Amino acid sequence: LKCARAVVADHGGQFPATRAGLLTLPGIGPYTASAIAAIAHDERATVVDGNVERVMARLYRVETPLPTAKPELTALAETLTPAQRAGDYAQAVMDLGATICTPRKPACGICPVNTACLARLAGVQADLPRKLQKAEKPVRRGTVWLGHRDGAVLLERRPERGLLGGMLCLPGDGWDGAGGPAPAPADWQKLGEVRHTFTHFHLILAVMAARIDGPASRGEWVPRHRFRPADLPTVMRKAWDIARDRLEA
Ligand code: SF4
Repeated sequence: LKCARAVVADHGGQFPATRAGLLTLPGIGPYTASAIAAIAHDERATVVDGNVERVMARLYRVETPLPTAKPELTALAETLTPAQRAGDYAQAVMDLGATICTPRKPACGICPVNTACLARLAGVQADLPRKLQKAEKPVRRGTVWLGHRDGAVLLERRPERGLLGGMLCLPGDGWDGAGGPAPAPADWQKLGEVRHTFTHFHLILAVMAARIDGPASRGEWVPRHRFRPADLPTVMRKAWDIARDRLEA
């Protein structure tokens, strides 16, 4: 809708016919702008997707790993783009990558550019394009405490800022610096561990449970009939699932 408004407001109701004009529209990035310009308007625009990158990396035997190699691969694709029928060229290279120069086991024997392919000549086509190794996610450890008494469980809301911000959780320690000590002295028993993966780290949480008879230093008592486990974030629901069986046993 934003794009349609921009066409009316900024382009007199005419859809831009050039790559540069298309790039001014909301929601249209370099790939789409190039594809429309080349295929619909026969502009000498170069379309680069994952298939094209793979073909270029092999054709020219580019050893630089992705994503660092992206500008180099785009430049190579541009040098091959013809002045005429750029749209046909774009579709041909994308099709080549999708059907013949596939990620695993490229069918070099039937490839129309196999005599020019440097990776094939060197026998390294299956190794290209290279990719930067992803950094291993760190593992953090923490503890949550499920305090209970007389049909109520002790829960607390996380700080608004940070991981699981503002969500209802079991009181936990500082795996991310936002926790604290056990909510009360009690005969804490370890019930097990849960594992959960966040975007930047793996978390292993020890789940402790105990009846709390005295005052709690943090959290609020929630009667079981008002407590809905579905309100907990996934990692806390995993912890609750371990503890619940024990509480109901
Ligand atoms: S010869 Fe093989 S590796 Fe080279 S472009 Fe063709 S299919 Fe890809």
